[in-house]
Amino acid sequence: MKKHNFSAGPCILPEEVLQKASEAVINFNQDNLSLIEISHRSKPFVEVIEKGRSLVLELLHLNDSEYATLFLHGGASTQFLMIAYNFLNKKAGYLNTGTWSNKAIKEAKLFGDLIEVASSKDDAFNYIPKDYIVPADIDYFHCTSNNTIYGTQMKAFPEVKVPLICDMSSDIFSRELDFSKFDLIYAGAQKNMGPAGTTLVVIKKELLNNITREVPSMLSYKTHIEKDSMFNTPSVFSVYVSMLTLDWLKELGGIPFIEKVNTKKADLLYSEIDRNPLFKGNVATEDRSIMNATFTLKNKDLQEKFDTMWKDANINGINGHRSVGGYRVSMYNALPLYSVQALVDVMQELERKA
Ligand SMILES: *Cc1c(COP(=O)(O)O)cnc(C)c1O
Repeated sequence: MKKHNFSAGPCILPEEVLQKASEAVINFNQDNLSLIEISHRSKPFVEVIEKGRSLVLELLHLNDSEYATLFLHGGASTQFLMIAYNFLNKKAGYLNTGTWSNKAIKEAKLFGDLIEVASSKDDAFNYIPKDYIVPADIDYFHCTSNNTIYGTQMKAFPEVKVPLICDMSSDIFSRELDFSKFDLIYAGAQKNMGPAGTTLVVIKKELLNNITREVPSMLSYKTHIEKDSMFNTPSVFSVYVSMLTLDWLKELGGIPFIEKVNTKKADLLYSEIDRNPLFKGNVATEDRSIMNATFTLKNKDLQEKFDTMWKDANINGINGHRSVGGYRVSMYNALPLYSVQALVDVMQELERKA
C-alpha cells in the first residue's frame, strides 16, 4: 500500500500523473521514443511546454499579453540572486519571515542596498509581521508567501507602489489570490507542481524596462523570455510532469476547488492539534499555513512512542525541519483528505494510550 506522504519537498504528486509520467519515460505519445530522449525543440515537446505555460496563466487568471511564463533551472534558490541581479539597481525592500527569506536577503545584498522592511525573527519566525510600511523609493518589495519550514503563511499582501515580487514555492496553486497584484512570482516545482528540476517564473513583461545592468545570458529574464525558456535545454521531464499536474488540477476544478480541499485538510489537522492535550501548535493561529503545519509534543517522553505509531500507520515525512524540530505535516495539493485523517487517528490513539 502506498504511504501517506506528508513530505515537505520533493512532495507527493497525483497518482495518475505518476502513472502517465512513467509511461512517457518509456514511450511518449505512442511514438516509440522516450520523452527524455527526444529533442526539446521537437514538436511534441514544444507542445508540452506551451501547454504548461498556458495552464499556468489560466489557473492564475493572468494573460500572456501582460505576463511571460518561464520554466528555468536552478531552483527557487537561483531566483534569489537572479531577481537582484536584474532588478536591484539601488535598494530593495525585503520582508523577513524565516529561512528562505533570509537566503533571498543574503543573495540580494551582493547587488545593492537592502532594507529589511519587517521581520519576525524576534519570535523565532512564529508569526507574520503586519502593519509595516513599504517605502515608495525602492526598486522592488520581496516577500515569501508561505514559510515552508516554520509553517506560517501570508494571508494578505501589502499594497505597494513598487514592483511586488513573491517566492510562492510552497503554496502556489493552493489558494486563490489576486495574482495580478504581483510583478514577479516564482516557485521551485517540487513543492506543489512537479518533480524537482524546474522553477516556474511568472513575470510581468513591463518589469523588463527596469533592468539597467548588464546581466549574463543565463541569469537574464530578457534572454529566457526572448527564447521562450529554450535558451538552453529545459528540464524536460520536470516540465512535462508539472504540465500534467497542472492539467490534473484544471480538470478537478482549478484553484477554487483545491483551495476548498486544502482548507478542509488543514482544518481537520489544526482542530486536532488544538483539541488534543498532548500537542501544541508552533505558530500564531491567524498565520497558520494551510500547506505546512508545525507542532510539538508537549511531553518529549512520548516522542518515541508517537514516532513508532505513525510509522506503523504507513505515514511518511512528518519530522520537523532539522532547524526547528518537532513535527511538520505538509499537505500539498495532491495529498488526500484521508491521509490527514490517518494521522489524526494516530494522534487520538496516542492520547488514549498515553
Ligand atoms: C524549498 C523552498 C525554496 C528552495 O527551493 P529550491 O528549488 O530547492 O532552490 C525556496 N523558497 C521556499 C519558500 C521553499 O519552500
